[in-house]
This record gives sequence, structure tokens and C-alpha cells, in this order.
Amino acid sequence: MIRNPIPWPNGAKCAVAITFDMDADSLIHVAKPDDSIDRLYPISMGRYGPQVAIPRILETYRRLGLKQSFFIPGWCLETYPNIVESILKDGHEIGHHGYIHEDPINTRGHQREWFERTLESHKRICGTLPRGYRAPVYNITDEVINLMVEHGMRYDSSMMADDIPYQLETPKGSLYEMPVHWGTDDWPPFAHYDEIGYMMPVKSPSEGLSGFWEEFEAQYASGGFFMMILHPFLTGRLARWKQVEIWIEKTMSEKNVWIATLDEISQHMDDLIEKNIWKPSIEKLPYYKNTVFNKKG
Ligand SMILES: [Zn+2]
Repeated sequence: MIRNPIPWPNGAKCAVAITFDMDADSLIHVAKPDDSIDRLYPISMGRYGPQVAIPRILETYRRLGLKQSFFIPGWCLETYPNIVESILKDGHEIGHHGYIHEDPINTRGHQREWFERTLESHKRICGTLPRGYRAPVYNITDEVINLMVEHGMRYDSSMMADDIPYQLETPKGSLYEMPVHWGTDDWPPFAHYDEIGYMMPVKSPSEGLSGFWEEFEAQYASGGFFMMILHPFLTGRLARWKQVEIWIEKTMSEKNVWIATLDEISQHMDDLIEKNIWKPSIEKLPYYKNTVFNKKG
């Protein structure tokens, strides 16, 4: 049961978003700034994303007529402009994902600089400003939320307070939240990355993805929202992407789903609110104004 299901377009039973965070090799440069350029293995693992996985993913989307959302750090837009061009040429959405995948918690107090530098990259490389944002490592802060509101952005996709999209209300304005969760993120089943402290035992493609499909079935049965948070260098690998491709084709032919970009879902929510058909649940920010636990008692 979902408390407040969203009526989807054309009577669809579930909205589906297959989102990709194209971090490429930004991860290793942030994790090991002193000697990242000497670490060819993680650089090459990251480069697999834009160079091999993204063309493969785009080909599937083109064949199936899908438009989806990609989140790409500003530095990656600048480093891989040809791939960005091919993503945009096919009509997909590109969202803000930090400048070089800097963690908003580790760069607290300096987010304006990083955030606006990324907007500049979007303007220069994509020719447009992003409508949505996903925090690197999901570490969204009130500082970033305020910058999003200030720059008129429409949605965040980093938080986990509900099953379906909801609204964030701050003293300065509001945004939609397209909620993520670890059960539909490919990092836990597939990432093995010692340099950033992530040592998961890698699962087989079918085992790693089977939990995702269970999440989808539950959302579908409740008229919900199913979003995958994928990384090209993980799930864009040959055997894993084959599994996802088979799932998309099967879902499109057997189920009544609306496969959309997050910006399209935001637009749909705007329309429902404007026509008084549906109202989102609301989370008020900031959550806390003072430290909750004081060690001194
Ligand atoms: Zn990322």
C-alpha cells in the first residue's frame, strides 16, 4: 500500500525511471588527489563508462524509443564532451551531479563555488541549465538545497523519505524529491573499489539484479514509482546490461508502465497540482536547527 499514489499519465500503473550517474574517473581523482593520475586501473575502470557503456545504453534506448535521465559531474561534461553530445542528441536529460563528484558534506561552506561552477559547465557544454540534481554519494545538505531553490531548479534525487516522489519545503522555496534507495542502486551488488573503501563481493548479473525486479513488482502492485540508480561502468557492462535490456523489453510488452525522465515526472506532478487532481506529501526542511545529540549532556 502506498498512502498517496500519483495518478500516472494514460492510466499507467507505475512510473519507471532508469537513471545513470556517469561518474567516469572523477571518483578516483577525488579519492586520491595526490597520485590519482598514476592509478591507471581505476581511471580505466571509470573510462569504460563514457567510452563503452554509454554508447551501448544509448543504442538500447534508441531502439526502444526511450528518453531517460543521466546525472553527470561538470568535470566529466568537460572531459567527455562527445559522449555528452550523443546523450543530448538522443533527447535525454542531463542533471547536476557536482563538479568533480565532491561530497557536499566534505565541502561544506564551499558548495556555492562548486555548485555554480557546475552550472557554468552545463551552460557551456550542454547549452542548457540542469533541472534536477543528484548529490554525489547522496550526501545532500541544506546548503545545496538552498542553492537549488535559488537557481530555480525543479527537483532533487538524493533522499529517501518516501516510496514515491514528494515535495521538499524550505523557508526559501520548494522542490520535488525523486527518492532513491539502496535496494535499486547498483553500487552494493556490483562495486568493488578498494581505493574508495568499497569492497563488496561482486554478484552475478542475474543475482545482483534480481532484488531490483522484486522492488519493481512491489511498486507496480501499489501504483508506485520504480527508479534504478545505475552507473555505466557497473551496469553498462556487457552481461549486466543484457539482463536490464531483457527486463525493459519484457516490462514494456507485458506491463502498463510510464517510462519517463525525472524532469517529465516533475512536469506531470506540476500539472496534477495545478489541476487540483493530486497533492504531494511534504517534508519540511531543515530537519533540525540544532545539534540533536550533545555529548556533554
Ligand atoms: Zn555519482
